[in-house]
Amino acid sequence: MGELRRDPVTNRWVVIDPERPDREAALKVEAWPPPPLPGPCPLCPGNESMTPPEIIAFGEPTRQRNQAGWWVRVTPDLQPLCRIEGDFDRRPEGPFDVMNALGAHEIVIESPEHQSTWADFPEQQLERVLRMYRMRSLDLRLDERFRSLIIMKNHADAASILSHPHSHVLALPFVPFGIEEELRGCREFYARKERCAFCDIILHERVSRVRRVAETDHFVVLAPFASRFPFETWLLPIRHASDFGKLGDKELVDLAWLVKRMMQMLGKVLGNPSCTIVLHSAPFDEPHTHDYHWHFEIIPKTAPVAAFGLGERLFVNPIPPEKAAALMGQQI
Ligand SMILES: [Zn+2]
Ligand SMILES: [Zn+2]
Ligand SMILES: [Zn+2]
Repeated sequence: MGELRRDPVTNRWVVIDPERPDREAALKVEAWPPPPLPGPCPLCPGNESMTPPEIIAFGEPTRQRNQAGWWVRVTPDLQPLCRIEGDFDRRPEGPFDVMNALGAHEIVIESPEHQSTWADFPEQQLERVLRMYRMRSLDLRLDERFRSLIIMKNHADAASILSHPHSHVLALPFVPFGIEEELRGCREFYARKERCAFCDIILHERVSRVRRVAETDHFVVLAPFASRFPFETWLLPIRHASDFGKLGDKELVDLAWLVKRMMQMLGKVLGNPSCTIVLHSAPFDEPHTHDYHWHFEIIPKTAPVAAFGLGERLFVNPIPPEKAAALMGQQI
């Protein structure tokens, strides 16, 4: 018999049911061979002319723009979801709201090495990637048209057209639903208790240790109480902070160390580290200093979620987070 669990932030109910027939499949990630590229990789050094002109890069001091010699490089996406030029032209269509798909869609090319993954990046390289995320967050918020930032990465994803390690940075004129839902929950929680909901969760999980996966000086990784997906994890700063952009240098080094260990651990536990990593940080334009707490959500690509999941947003998870945390904690 399963258990219904409610997430204290979003108030979403999740079915945790270890008797589900898909529980075996949820214990591993299928390794798919990457599809052959139709031509040269546009993200590899030497092929800089195959991407739109770069926005910024870290690299050798003598390097020229749009030439090899970079360590981390940011360009507009090859097939952007939204465009940076123009205005919104907000308009009604009867009861419907429409505006132009305006926003920034950039890719962070995380390494010159085509085959590399976060599990085998040197720590210094991961630090550069995280520093670039911070820099893009601080820069994109200067554009007053944008309200929020999403950083999303498909780690070691054979399904991606581009297998070269990269992540997406999106600055949007609205707050995406996943963050909006959390903001609403956090605001209500704070209004009642004058405490941050995530801080309460962190405190409880660090003391009980049942769902705690790992901890460093500045960060904690835990399997959330109402995990939607098998082996879902959250990585949060221990000290309350709503804005990823304000991450300090010491914390950044600590975070790089932890993220690398996380990716190595997922490879050991699930056989393959393929996962989606999303950054949730407070929107630029509304003060959420006290009630929101930034974090990464990490969702391994195990067996598909039960059929109810996508249509009804009713999540059924056959792996209790306590079990996931125990398996993961042993390997980190
Ligand atoms: Zn490449
Ligand atoms: Zn907090
Ligand atoms: Zn979140």
